[in-house]
Amino acid sequence: MTLAASQERPNLIGQTRATLTSTLESVGVAPEHLRMRTNQLWQWIYQKGTRDFFAMSNMSKAFRALMAEHFVIEVPVLTRRLISVDGTRKYLFRLTDGNEIETVYIPDEGRGTLCVSSQVGCTLNCRFCHTGRQALVRNLSVAEIVGQVMAARDDLNDWPRPGRGHDGEHRLISNIVLMGMGEPLYNLDNVRDAVVIAMDGEGISISRRRITLSTAGVVPGIARAGSEIGCRLAISLHATTDAVRDQIVPINRKWNIAELFATLRSYPGLSNADRITFEYVMLEDVNDHDDDARRLVELLRGLPAKVNLIPFNAWPGAPYGCSAPERIASFSRIVRRAGYACPVRTPRGADIMAACGQLKSDSARQRRNTRCAA
Ligand code: SAH
Repeated sequence: MTLAASQERPNLIGQTRATLTSTLESVGVAPEHLRMRTNQLWQWIYQKGTRDFFAMSNMSKAFRALMAEHFVIEVPVLTRRLISVDGTRKYLFRLTDGNEIETVYIPDEGRGTLCVSSQVGCTLNCRFCHTGRQALVRNLSVAEIVGQVMAARDDLNDWPRPGRGHDGEHRLISNIVLMGMGEPLYNLDNVRDAVVIAMDGEGISISRRRITLSTAGVVPGIARAGSEIGCRLAISLHATTDAVRDQIVPINRKWNIAELFATLRSYPGLSNADRITFEYVMLEDVNDHDDDARRLVELLRGLPAKVNLIPFNAWPGAPYGCSAPERIASFSRIVRRAGYACPVRTPRGADIMAACGQLKSDSARQRRNTRCAA
C-alpha cells in the first residue's frame, strides 16, 4: 500500500459508533445490516486490536473486500521507544503529516497508566514546562488520540488473548491520563470522542473513573468536560496567589484562581471517592513556602480533593530549580494535617527524559544534527 493511497482512504479508528454507521452507509452497506456491521467492526478494531480487514473472519469476504477498498485502520507509527530501569516506557509516535508526539506508559503496583497527548505542542507557555517551548501547535484528531492507546497496547502486547483474562487486574494499561503534550480542553471535541471510544464497554473498555483529564484551567471547558465526558479531573494549580500563577501558568490571566475554583465547586459527581486531583509542581522559592501550603488548604475547603506534589522535572536551561526534599515534606505535612491526601510523586523515568516534551525536542535536535552532518 502506498502512503498516498493510505491517506486517501479514511481511517476507521477514531470514528464514534454513530459516525462509523454513517460511514458504512456512505459506501452502500444496506440499512438493515448497519447495526450489525458497526458492532462487528467495532469489536475487531477495539476489543481484539485487529488491523487487517481480511482477518475479520465472521464477516463475508465481499464485505471485507469492500472495507479494504475504501478504508484503513491505522494508528500512529512508533519511531522511538525508551524503557527506563523503573519500567516506564516513553514512546515517540509519528503522525501521517510527519509531526511527532509523546506518550508515556507508567507501570505501578496493581495498575498501569498511559499518559496520552492531546495536541502537537501546546499554546499555554507554562514557564516550567518544556512542551511550551515547541513552536508548532495543532490539535490531534480523535484517531491520533485513541490511536496512542492502541499503539501502546501493541507495544505492550496488551490485547486480550485466549486463556488470559483481560479485566482490570490483568491489563497492563488500566488507566489513562490526558496529561501528555497539549491542553486537552483546547481540543475538547476530539478528546471527548476519543475518551468515549476508550470507555465503550465493547471495546477498549476503560471505565470513566480510570480516566483523568488534566487541565491548566480552561474554565469554560471544565463544565463541558463534566457533562460531556464525566471523567475524573486533574487541575494543574501550581500556585496559590494570582500574582504567582499569572507568571508560571499564564492562562491564569484569562481565568483566575477564584473563577477556577467557582467552576470546580460545581463539577458533577464529586465525592470522596471521586475527588479532584490538584497537581502542584514544587519550584524552589517560587511556590513552595509553608504559607503557600496554608493558602492551598483554604482554597480547597469543602472540595473533595487530593494534592499531588510533583518535584520539578528540570530540563537544560530551565529557569527554575526543584524544591529541597525537606521543603516538599513540610508543604505536604501542612496539607495532610488539614485532612487532604498529599503524596509526593516519585519521579519516574528520570533516565529516559520523561519530562514533558523532552523526547520530541531531542528527536528534532537529532534530525538537525544529521542534516548538518550530511
Ligand atoms: N495542559 C494540561 C496537561 C498537560 S501538562 C495541564 O496543564 O494540566 C501535564 C502536567 O505536567 C501538568 O500538571 C504540568 O504542569 C506538569 N508539568 C509540565 N512540565 C513539568 C515539569 N518540567 N516538571 C513537573 N511537572 C511538569
